[in-house]
Amino acid sequence: METLMQQKTEKETLDESANLNIKTMKALVYHGPGKKAWEEKPKPQIKVATDVIVKILKTTICGTDLHIMKGDVPEVEDGRIIGHEGVGIIEETGSAVSNFKPGDHVLISCITSCGKCSYCKKGMYSHCEDGGWILGHLIDGTQAEYVRIPHADNSLYPIPAGADEEALVMLSDILPTGFECGVLNGQVKPGDTIAIVGSGPIGLAALLTAQFFSPAEIIMIDPDDNRLNVAKGFGATHLMNNSTEDVVKKIMDLTSGRGVDTAIEAVGIPATFELCEAIIGPGGHIANVGVHGKSVNLHLETLWSKNITITTRLVDTTSTPMLLKTVNANKLQPSKLITHHFRLDQVIEAYDTFEHAAKEKALKVIMTNTNDVE
Ligand SMILES: [Zn+2]
Ligand SMILES: [Zn+2]
Repeated sequence: METLMQQKTEKETLDESANLNIKTMKALVYHGPGKKAWEEKPKPQIKVATDVIVKILKTTICGTDLHIMKGDVPEVEDGRIIGHEGVGIIEETGSAVSNFKPGDHVLISCITSCGKCSYCKKGMYSHCEDGGWILGHLIDGTQAEYVRIPHADNSLYPIPAGADEEALVMLSDILPTGFECGVLNGQVKPGDTIAIVGSGPIGLAALLTAQFFSPAEIIMIDPDDNRLNVAKGFGATHLMNNSTEDVVKKIMDLTSGRGVDTAIEAVGIPATFELCEAIIGPGGHIANVGVHGKSVNLHLETLWSKNITITTRLVDTTSTPMLLKTVNANKLQPSKLITHHFRLDQVIEAYDTFEHAAKEKALKVIMTNTNDVE
Protein backbone atom coordinates (compact mmCIF):
# COMPACT_ATOMS: atom_id res chain seq x y z
CA MET A 1 0.00 0.00 0.00
CA GLU A 2 2.72 2.36 1.02
CA THR A 3 4.69 1.48 -2.11
CA LEU A 4 1.63 2.19 -4.23
CA MET A 5 1.18 5.59 -2.64
CA GLN A 6 4.82 6.38 -3.06
CA GLN A 7 4.65 5.39 -6.71
CA LYS A 8 1.68 7.63 -7.18
CA THR A 9 3.49 10.50 -5.51
CA GLU A 10 6.52 10.04 -7.71
CA LYS A 11 4.34 9.85 -10.78
CA GLU A 12 2.54 13.00 -9.74
CA THR A 13 5.88 14.69 -9.20
CA LEU A 14 6.95 13.65 -12.68
CA ASP A 15 3.73 14.94 -14.20
CA GLU A 16 4.16 18.17 -12.32
CA SER A 17 7.74 18.72 -13.46
CA ALA A 18 6.78 17.76 -17.01
CA ASN A 19 4.13 20.46 -16.89
CA LEU A 20 6.53 22.95 -15.38
CA ASN A 21 9.13 22.16 -18.01
CA ILE A 22 6.71 23.25 -20.70
CA LYS A 23 6.91 26.75 -19.24
CA THR A 24 9.53 28.76 -21.03
CA MET A 25 10.95 32.23 -20.93
CA LYS A 26 13.27 34.35 -23.04
CA ALA A 27 16.89 34.91 -22.06
CA LEU A 28 20.25 36.06 -23.36
CA VAL A 29 22.32 32.93 -23.89
CA TYR A 30 26.09 32.66 -24.39
CA HIS A 31 27.11 30.18 -27.09
CA GLY A 32 30.89 30.43 -27.02
CA PRO A 33 33.21 33.34 -27.90
CA GLY A 34 31.46 35.98 -30.01
CA LYS A 35 28.16 34.09 -30.08
CA LYS A 36 25.04 35.07 -28.18
CA ALA A 37 21.30 34.80 -28.77
CA TRP A 38 18.02 36.01 -27.27
CA GLU A 39 16.19 32.71 -27.16
CA GLU A 40 13.69 30.46 -25.45
CA LYS A 41 14.87 28.65 -22.29
CA PRO A 42 13.02 26.64 -19.64
CA LYS A 43 11.73 28.89 -16.88
CA PRO A 44 13.93 28.34 -13.78
CA GLN A 45 12.54 26.28 -10.91
CA ILE A 46 13.29 26.05 -7.20
CA LYS A 47 16.06 23.44 -6.76
CA VAL A 48 16.95 23.87 -3.10
CA ALA A 49 14.73 25.05 -0.21
CA THR A 50 16.82 28.24 0.16
CA ASP A 51 16.18 29.32 -3.48
CA VAL A 52 13.73 31.85 -4.81
CA ILE A 53 12.57 32.55 -8.35
CA VAL A 54 12.68 36.24 -9.24
CA LYS A 55 10.83 37.79 -12.14
CA ILE A 56 13.26 40.36 -13.55
CA LEU A 57 11.98 43.94 -13.81
CA LYS A 58 15.20 45.71 -14.79
CA THR A 59 18.72 44.52 -15.55
CA THR A 60 21.92 45.83 -17.09
CA ILE A 61 25.17 44.80 -18.81
CA CYS A 62 28.53 44.80 -17.03
CA GLY A 63 32.03 45.13 -18.49
CA THR A 64 32.55 41.61 -17.17
CA ASP A 65 29.76 40.38 -19.48
CA LEU A 66 31.74 41.72 -22.44
CA HIS A 67 34.77 39.76 -21.21
CA ILE A 68 32.59 36.63 -21.06
CA MET A 69 31.31 37.25 -24.59
CA LYS A 70 34.89 37.54 -25.85
CA GLY A 71 35.74 34.17 -24.29
CA ASP A 72 38.00 35.65 -21.56
CA VAL A 73 36.13 33.73 -18.82
CA PRO A 74 36.57 30.12 -19.99
CA GLU A 75 34.56 28.52 -17.14
CA VAL A 76 31.36 30.04 -18.61
CA GLU A 77 29.73 27.21 -20.55
CA ASP A 78 27.92 27.23 -23.87
CA GLY A 79 24.22 27.65 -23.06
CA ARG A 80 24.73 29.83 -19.98
CA ILE A 81 22.37 32.77 -19.37
CA ILE A 82 24.53 35.85 -18.68
CA GLY A 83 24.01 38.78 -16.27
CA HIS A 84 24.59 39.39 -12.55
CA GLU A 85 22.76 42.64 -11.88
CA GLY A 86 19.08 43.54 -11.57
CA VAL A 87 15.92 44.18 -9.63
CA GLY A 88 12.76 42.10 -9.71
CA ILE A 89 9.70 40.68 -7.98
CA ILE A 90 9.75 37.43 -6.04
CA GLU A 91 7.64 34.91 -7.92
CA GLU A 92 8.17 31.84 -5.76
CA THR A 93 10.10 31.02 -2.59
CA GLY A 94 11.67 27.77 -1.41
CA SER A 95 10.38 26.35 1.87
CA ALA A 96 13.42 27.49 3.90
CA VAL A 97 13.32 31.14 2.77
CA SER A 98 12.22 33.34 5.67
CA ASN A 99 13.11 36.93 4.70
CA PHE A 100 11.04 37.14 1.50
CA LYS A 101 7.61 36.23 0.15
CA PRO A 102 6.06 36.23 -3.33
CA GLY A 103 5.35 39.77 -4.52
CA ASP A 104 8.29 41.37 -2.69
CA HIS A 105 10.45 43.73 -4.75
CA VAL A 106 14.13 42.86 -4.40
CA LEU A 107 17.60 44.01 -5.37
CA ILE A 108 19.75 41.13 -6.63
CA SER A 109 23.36 41.14 -5.41
CA CYS A 110 26.01 40.10 -7.95
CA ILE A 111 27.47 38.00 -5.11
CA THR A 112 25.58 34.96 -3.82
CA SER A 113 26.32 34.15 -0.17
CA CYS A 114 25.11 31.51 2.26
CA GLY A 115 25.80 33.67 5.33
CA LYS A 116 26.95 30.58 7.23
CA CYS A 117 30.36 29.42 5.97
CA SER A 118 33.69 30.57 7.42
CA TYR A 119 34.21 33.22 4.71
CA CYS A 120 30.65 34.57 5.06
CA LYS A 121 31.14 34.76 8.84
CA LYS A 122 34.09 37.08 8.15
CA GLY A 123 31.98 39.22 5.82
CA MET A 124 33.92 37.91 2.83
CA TYR A 125 30.84 36.99 0.80
CA SER A 126 32.85 37.05 -2.43
CA HIS A 127 34.54 33.83 -1.33
CA CYS A 128 31.43 32.08 0.05
CA GLU A 129 32.00 28.32 -0.08
CA ASP A 130 28.60 27.84 -1.72
CA GLY A 131 28.38 31.10 -3.63
CA GLY A 132 30.56 34.08 -4.52
CA TRP A 133 30.29 35.36 -8.07
CA ILE A 134 28.31 32.51 -9.60
CA LEU A 135 25.34 34.37 -11.14
CA GLY A 136 25.64 34.63 -14.94
CA HIS A 137 28.96 32.81 -14.57
CA LEU A 138 28.59 29.29 -13.12
CA ILE A 139 24.77 29.37 -12.88
CA ASP A 140 22.18 31.11 -15.07
CA GLY A 141 21.98 34.88 -14.61
CA THR A 142 19.74 37.92 -14.76
CA GLN A 143 19.55 38.88 -18.46
CA ALA A 144 16.36 36.84 -18.62
CA GLU A 145 12.68 37.09 -17.78
CA TYR A 146 13.23 34.96 -14.66
CA VAL A 147 16.21 33.95 -12.55
CA ARG A 148 16.79 31.44 -9.75
CA ILE A 149 18.61 33.03 -6.80
CA PRO A 150 20.25 30.56 -4.37
CA HIS A 151 20.67 31.46 -0.68
CA ALA A 152 18.02 34.11 -1.21
CA ASP A 153 17.84 35.26 2.41
CA ASN A 154 21.45 36.50 2.28
CA SER A 155 21.78 37.32 -1.44
CA LEU A 156 18.78 39.60 -2.00
CA TYR A 157 17.88 42.96 -0.44
CA PRO A 158 14.34 44.25 0.05
CA ILE A 159 13.50 47.37 -1.96
CA PRO A 160 11.53 49.91 0.07
CA ALA A 161 8.22 51.08 -1.43
CA GLY A 162 8.57 54.15 -3.64
CA ALA A 163 12.30 53.64 -4.31
CA ASP A 164 13.78 54.44 -7.72
CA GLU A 165 14.26 50.81 -8.78
CA GLU A 166 16.19 51.69 -11.90
CA ALA A 167 18.80 53.52 -9.84
CA LEU A 168 19.05 50.54 -7.50
CA VAL A 169 20.27 48.33 -10.38
CA MET A 170 23.54 50.24 -9.93
CA LEU A 171 23.75 48.69 -6.44
CA SER A 172 23.88 45.09 -7.68
CA ASP A 173 27.55 45.43 -8.58
CA ILE A 174 29.18 48.70 -9.59
CA LEU A 175 28.44 50.90 -6.54
CA PRO A 176 29.58 48.35 -3.93
CA THR A 177 32.54 47.42 -6.17
CA GLY A 178 33.75 51.01 -6.56
CA PHE A 179 33.14 51.66 -2.87
CA GLU A 180 34.54 48.49 -1.26
CA CYS A 181 37.44 47.66 -3.61
CA GLY A 182 38.35 51.29 -4.38
CA VAL A 183 37.29 53.70 -1.65
CA LEU A 184 37.31 51.50 1.48
CA ASN A 185 40.42 49.50 0.56
CA GLY A 186 42.07 52.75 -0.58
CA GLN A 187 41.33 54.25 2.87
CA VAL A 188 40.16 57.58 1.44
CA LYS A 189 40.12 60.22 4.21
CA PRO A 190 38.98 63.84 4.58
CA GLY A 191 41.40 66.25 2.94
CA ASP A 192 43.17 63.54 0.89
CA THR A 193 44.29 63.86 -2.70
CA ILE A 194 43.06 60.84 -4.60
CA ALA A 195 43.42 59.71 -8.20
CA ILE A 196 40.99 57.39 -9.96
CA VAL A 197 42.44 55.77 -13.08
CA GLY A 198 39.55 54.92 -15.41
CA SER A 199 36.37 56.94 -15.76
CA GLY A 200 34.08 54.09 -16.79
CA PRO A 201 31.09 52.98 -14.69
CA ILE A 202 33.28 51.47 -11.94
CA GLY A 203 35.65 54.44 -11.76
CA LEU A 204 32.65 56.78 -11.63
CA ALA A 205 31.09 54.63 -8.89
CA ALA A 206 34.33 55.08 -6.91
CA LEU A 207 34.18 58.81 -7.62
CA LEU A 208 30.60 59.08 -6.30
CA THR A 209 31.24 57.05 -3.14
CA ALA A 210 34.70 58.54 -2.38
CA GLN A 211 32.85 61.78 -1.63
CA PHE A 212 31.34 60.19 1.51
CA PHE A 213 34.80 60.90 2.99
CA SER A 214 35.34 64.43 1.63
CA PRO A 215 38.72 64.09 -0.09
CA ALA A 216 40.11 67.53 -0.97
CA GLU A 217 41.14 66.67 -4.52
CA ILE A 218 39.82 63.99 -6.83
CA ILE A 219 41.83 63.54 -10.00
CA MET A 220 40.06 61.57 -12.73
CA ILE A 221 42.23 59.98 -15.42
CA ASP A 222 40.89 58.52 -18.70
CA PRO A 223 41.70 58.62 -22.43
CA ASP A 224 38.08 59.62 -23.29
CA ASP A 225 37.24 63.33 -22.90
CA ASN A 226 33.51 62.61 -22.81
CA ARG A 227 33.94 60.33 -19.79
CA LEU A 228 36.14 62.95 -18.12
CA ASN A 229 33.40 65.55 -18.61
CA VAL A 230 30.92 63.19 -17.00
CA ALA A 231 33.35 62.84 -14.08
CA LYS A 232 33.47 66.61 -13.72
CA GLY A 233 29.70 66.66 -13.29
CA PHE A 234 30.05 63.92 -10.64
CA GLY A 235 32.48 65.93 -8.49
CA ALA A 236 35.98 65.35 -9.91
CA THR A 237 38.21 68.36 -9.20
CA HIS A 238 40.89 67.63 -11.82
CA LEU A 239 40.57 65.88 -15.19
CA MET A 240 43.56 64.36 -16.96
CA ASN A 241 43.60 62.66 -20.36
CA ASN A 242 46.31 59.99 -20.30
CA SER A 243 46.32 59.66 -24.09
CA THR A 244 47.30 63.31 -24.66
CA GLU A 245 48.91 64.48 -21.41
CA ASP A 246 51.90 63.54 -19.22
CA VAL A 247 49.73 62.54 -16.28
CA VAL A 248 52.61 61.65 -13.94
CA LYS A 249 54.20 65.09 -14.39
CA LYS A 250 50.86 66.89 -13.97
CA ILE A 251 50.10 65.02 -10.74
CA MET A 252 53.60 65.62 -9.34
CA ASP A 253 53.24 69.34 -10.16
CA LEU A 254 49.82 69.43 -8.50
CA THR A 255 51.04 67.69 -5.32
CA SER A 256 54.40 69.53 -5.00
CA GLY A 257 56.19 66.32 -5.93
CA ARG A 258 54.56 64.21 -3.21
CA GLY A 259 52.15 62.07 -5.23
CA VAL A 260 48.61 61.08 -4.25
CA ASP A 261 47.32 59.58 -1.00
CA THR A 262 45.15 57.03 -2.78
CA ALA A 263 45.32 55.71 -6.34
CA ILE A 264 42.32 53.64 -7.43
CA GLU A 265 42.93 51.40 -10.46
CA ALA A 266 39.61 50.92 -12.27
CA VAL A 267 40.68 49.62 -15.68
CA GLY A 268 42.56 46.30 -15.39
CA ILE A 269 45.53 46.60 -17.75
CA PRO A 270 49.27 46.75 -16.92
CA ALA A 271 49.69 50.40 -18.05
CA THR A 272 47.03 51.75 -15.68
CA PHE A 273 48.31 49.77 -12.69
CA GLU A 274 51.85 50.98 -13.37
CA LEU A 275 50.51 54.53 -13.59
CA CYS A 276 49.17 54.08 -10.04
CA GLU A 277 52.65 52.94 -8.94
CA ALA A 278 54.16 56.06 -10.54
CA ILE A 279 51.81 58.58 -8.87
CA ILE A 280 51.45 57.10 -5.37
CA GLY A 281 52.93 59.19 -2.57
CA PRO A 282 54.66 58.01 0.63
CA GLY A 283 52.20 56.30 2.98
CA GLY A 284 49.73 55.97 0.12
CA HIS A 285 47.30 53.24 -0.86
CA ILE A 286 46.98 51.64 -4.29
CA ALA A 287 43.56 50.03 -4.44
CA ASN A 288 43.12 47.69 -7.37
CA VAL A 289 39.57 47.32 -8.70
CA GLY A 290 40.26 46.31 -12.32
CA VAL A 291 40.00 42.73 -13.55
CA HIS A 292 43.49 41.87 -14.78
CA GLY A 293 44.23 39.30 -17.46
CA LYS A 294 48.00 39.89 -17.61
CA SER A 295 50.82 40.23 -15.08
CA VAL A 296 51.99 43.74 -14.25
CA ASN A 297 55.40 45.05 -13.22
CA LEU A 298 55.76 45.73 -9.53
CA HIS A 299 58.30 48.56 -9.22
CA LEU A 300 59.73 47.65 -5.84
CA GLU A 301 62.93 49.48 -6.80
CA THR A 302 60.98 52.73 -6.27
CA LEU A 303 58.26 51.59 -3.89
CA TRP A 304 60.17 49.56 -1.27
CA SER A 305 60.81 52.56 1.00
CA LYS A 306 57.53 54.44 0.44
CA ASN A 307 55.35 52.82 3.14
CA ILE A 308 52.65 52.09 0.61
CA THR A 309 49.87 49.51 0.70
CA ILE A 310 48.57 47.64 -2.33
CA THR A 311 45.17 46.01 -2.00
CA THR A 312 43.13 43.65 -4.15
CA ARG A 313 39.54 42.56 -3.58
CA LEU A 314 36.53 40.98 -5.19
CA VAL A 315 33.45 42.90 -4.10
CA ASP A 316 31.78 41.36 -1.03
CA THR A 317 28.59 43.50 -1.28
CA THR A 318 28.62 43.86 2.52
CA SER A 319 28.14 47.61 2.00
CA THR A 320 24.93 47.16 0.00
CA PRO A 321 22.49 47.83 2.92
CA MET A 322 24.36 51.06 3.73
CA LEU A 323 24.40 52.11 0.05
CA LEU A 324 20.66 51.41 -0.20
CA LYS A 325 20.05 53.81 2.69
CA THR A 326 22.18 56.55 1.17
CA VAL A 327 20.39 56.23 -2.18
CA ASN A 328 16.98 56.34 -0.52
CA ALA A 329 18.06 59.40 1.48
CA ASN A 330 19.17 61.00 -1.82
CA LYS A 331 22.77 61.33 -0.59
CA LEU A 332 23.91 59.31 -3.61
CA GLN A 333 22.37 59.52 -7.09
CA PRO A 334 23.48 56.41 -8.98
CA SER A 335 20.84 57.03 -11.67
CA LYS A 336 23.34 59.55 -13.09
CA LEU A 337 25.28 56.54 -14.40
CA ILE A 338 22.39 55.42 -16.64
CA THR A 339 22.70 56.69 -20.21
CA HIS A 340 20.60 54.31 -22.34
CA HIS A 341 17.31 52.44 -22.03
CA PHE A 342 16.13 49.34 -23.88
CA ARG A 343 13.43 46.73 -23.55
CA LEU A 344 14.76 43.40 -22.31
CA ASP A 345 13.95 41.83 -25.69
CA GLN A 346 16.27 44.43 -27.29
CA VAL A 347 19.22 43.05 -25.33
CA ILE A 348 21.31 42.33 -28.46
CA GLU A 349 20.97 46.01 -29.44
CA ALA A 350 21.85 47.00 -25.87
CA TYR A 351 25.05 44.93 -26.07
CA ASP A 352 25.90 46.63 -29.34
CA THR A 353 25.58 50.05 -27.71
CA PHE A 354 27.54 49.04 -24.61
CA GLU A 355 30.32 47.45 -26.69
CA HIS A 356 30.78 50.78 -28.48
CA ALA A 357 30.62 52.80 -25.27
CA ALA A 358 32.95 55.60 -26.38
CA LYS A 359 31.15 56.19 -29.69
CA GLU A 360 27.69 55.88 -28.12
CA LYS A 361 28.68 57.89 -25.01
CA ALA A 362 27.35 54.96 -22.99
CA LEU A 363 27.89 54.32 -19.30
CA LYS A 364 25.22 51.95 -18.01
CA VAL A 365 22.34 50.64 -20.12
CA ILE A 366 19.07 49.66 -18.47
CA MET A 367 16.90 46.91 -19.93
CA THR A 368 13.28 46.70 -18.78
CA ASN A 369 11.24 43.52 -18.89
CA THR A 370 8.05 44.75 -20.52
CA ASN A 371 6.29 41.48 -19.77
CA ASP A 372 6.18 42.59 -16.15
CA VAL A 373 2.74 44.18 -16.14
CA GLU A 374 0.82 42.32 -13.46
ZN1 LIG B 1 29.60 43.23 -12.96
ZN1 LIG C 1 29.03 31.36 2.63
